[in-house]
Amino acid sequence: MRRLLIALALLIIASTFAAAQQYDVVLEGGRVMDPETGLDAVRNVGIRDGKIARISVAPLSGRRLIHAAGLVVAPGFIDLHQHAQDLASQRVKAFDGVSTALEMEIGASDVAQFLKSKEGRSLIHYGTTASHVAARALIFGVPLPEGTILPKSGTATDQPAAPEQIERIQQRLREELDAGALGVGMGIQYTPGATHLEVIDMFRVAAERKLPVYTHMRSAGRVEPGSAIESVEEVIGAAAITGAPLHIVHINSTCLRDSLECISMIEGARARGLDVTTEAYPYIAGMTAINSAQFNPGWREKLGIEYSDLVVPNTGEHLTKERFDELHNATKQQWVLVFANTQEVVDAVIPNPLIMIASDGAEGHPRNAGTYSRILAQYVREKKMLTLMEALRKMTLMPAQVLERSTPAAHQKGRMQEGSDADVVIFDPQTISDRSTFEKPMEPSVGVHYLLVGGTPLIDEGKLVPDVYPGRALVGPGKPVGEKHP
Ligand SMILES: [Zn+2]
Repeated sequence: MRRLLIALALLIIASTFAAAQQYDVVLEGGRVMDPETGLDAVRNVGIRDGKIARISVAPLSGRRLIHAAGLVVAPGFIDLHQHAQDLASQRVKAFDGVSTALEMEIGASDVAQFLKSKEGRSLIHYGTTASHVAARALIFGVPLPEGTILPKSGTATDQPAAPEQIERIQQRLREELDAGALGVGMGIQYTPGATHLEVIDMFRVAAERKLPVYTHMRSAGRVEPGSAIESVEEVIGAAAITGAPLHIVHINSTCLRDSLECISMIEGARARGLDVTTEAYPYIAGMTAINSAQFNPGWREKLGIEYSDLVVPNTGEHLTKERFDELHNATKQQWVLVFANTQEVVDAVIPNPLIMIASDGAEGHPRNAGTYSRILAQYVREKKMLTLMEALRKMTLMPAQVLERSTPAAHQKGRMQEGSDADVVIFDPQTISDRSTFEKPMEPSVGVHYLLVGGTPLIDEGKLVPDVYPGRALVGPGKPVGEKHP
């Protein structure tokens, strides 16, 4: 009996040892940083089956060894706000350290189709909300053209919906949530015809499923009625009335000079127990579709800017009134850079503890390629407004915690912990820098040596690995149990 026990014990020890040898990838000797536990120390990381299996002081062995000495080993960055979902944009996101980039602000116009189109063809992880903008366009009989997310300004965006139409928009959103959306996306400024009640009714759909609403708010600037402050009140009110968690996108570009006031309103709502979060990007310009309702009459007064503050990406053309009228009235969608903010406002917003980083990325604006490296280069290294750990928290843990409202899978994201998903960025904190500019918006960032997506190296020794598509979908709970849809 005793011999049997000893044999058994030996077997267990042997198999444990063998298992320890079997890491797919070992990250050796890097500065491992985890914003949740506060770990900031030189460690070895063993990755197996797409998961972080071991973090240890002792050496580990594996089939692939990556030397990370002198480099930071951190969770891959999670971008909650990424519009361009094509491979060219995913490529520059990867060089910026992003392993997950989600379309949450507005949402894809057809969730099932979005998820299907990306399956097995995505460099990084993806996901989307259900689009109120698209659902409304559909019910008004002018569905969005494929591949677009914003409607041209017109009666379908500017008129109130009848009660019967509101019900149909709600029903469409339910179907999109069934298809795997992570919440409801609302670009209220792009559908100014939506009444306050329509907004509340859309929040109700999210609340039915205990899912969040992500929103670009109704209005920007100081002109009352319709100020940014009023816009924050509207969505916090809808969250309070319905119980739906709320994420307000790009508080910097909606609230402009009142950004800190808007953040303090969110702080107040949170202190009263509401689940409200927000984000910002580190640039003084925004970008949007010029034929959208955002440029309905009154935009210059609201934003306090002129025609010449609108700039066509790539060409650098500053608009005149004539050129604006031409582009605003066109059916073809031209995106324009909107220079409406100041560096002082951006610098005051980014370090705020409630602010997480999200890029609002789309081709034509340097934020698509440079947001995350820019935070690490400018706010951590140069201006010293953030510690490295604080910056990482804003790019990893905080967005992961927001996503936990939608899917339990997010508990394994945004962390360097045993059991977490092996989405890992390995970068040089001394050299990481954005290189994208308003003139050259798609220049990839430098300083990311490796990016692992679900354990698979996507950037390896600073180069993109060809023909690998390790990106997987993040999806919501789908159809509620027991509920039937025809
Ligand atoms: Zn927006």
